[in-house]
Amino acid sequence: MAYRSTQGIVLSRTDYRENDRMLTLLSPEFGRVDALCRGCRKPKSPLMTAGELFCMGEYVLYTQGGRQIVTACSVIEAFYPLRLNYSRLSYGAMMLSAALKSAQPGEPAAHLYILLARSLRRLAYQDVPAKQVGTAFLLHLAAIGGFKPRLNHCVRCGRRMGEGEAGSLLPQEGGICCTSCCNRDPYRHRISAPGLQWLRQVLSQGIDRTENAPEEAPYALLAEYVAYHIDGQLLPVTDE
Ligand SMILES: [Zn+2]
Repeated sequence: MAYRSTQGIVLSRTDYRENDRMLTLLSPEFGRVDALCRGCRKPKSPLMTAGELFCMGEYVLYTQGGRQIVTACSVIEAFYPLRLNYSRLSYGAMMLSAALKSAQPGEPAAHLYILLARSLRRLAYQDVPAKQVGTAFLLHLAAIGGFKPRLNHCVRCGRRMGEGEAGSLLPQEGGICCTSCCNRDPYRHRISAPGLQWLRQVLSQGIDRTENAPEEAPYALLAEYVAYHIDGQLLPVTDE
């Protein structure tokens, strides 16, 4: 089958020759897909939007000599408003880079695809603070990737922690540690009781159904946690 069609989101793009680009798409069916997008840098190219970062569309791919070529794309969403706010753009770029490191060629990635599409929509079109969207994205990415942090029981003593308890999120130990077990661990891993309770709600109910989001979502903690597990730094973000 020389032609195949798949939904995709552009995770990265590299200019190639005079008017072309190499794209890396996230596909729900095929995981990470590299595809050449010919002519997409020409101002009047029908593939101009299809070759931009964040673009979500129905891509038609043609296989030729072991290489995939984008022959057509019907754009579903370009997430244009992301480009108007530098902070939101930086969180969006961080999400693309984290998805790029998590997805594998040929491995279906339906959950990751849905998570990325929903998170980009929230960033582009909703009032939810970018830091909360980014934190929730990383938490669900960890769950999908099989390294979901333990948030209810202390990773060291095994005790069930109460709703009003603060703790430390320890990347190497895979979850939360109670204050009596972690008083010698670095201060940067500390998380407040409301911050921790919010993470539990995000994980069990999704970000839309959480109450009492903390003033400052624990983004840096989640970024360190995920970077440790995917073995690579995430792109830095800028706050509003
Ligand atoms: Zn403990």
